Amino acid sequence: MPLVMDHISPRRVGGSDESDNLAACCYRCNEFKGARTQANDPATGEFLPLFNPRIQVWREHFCWANSGTHVVGLTPTDRATSDPN
Ligand SMILES: [Zn+2]
Repeated sequence: MPLVMDHISPRRVGGSDESDNLAACCYRCNEFKGARTQANDPATGEFLPLFNPRIQVWREHFCWANSGTHVVGLTPTDRATSDPN
């Protein structure tokens, strides 16, 4: 699947086009994220900032499940990022 450029802080809320605000992202995830920067942890309902790939390390926050068919968040913020509601 081709990747698109995600604005970590969306342009709609003042995010810039500078490289430190951009991250490669699959189209589906980028469309789903939209202009959000926070989401609810499905386990607690707490409203938390989304994972930031520019300042956080993916493998410390997520793992693959079901033989690599989907991503599981390891912390509250990661659960909010991978399974927002
Ligand atoms: Zn994706």
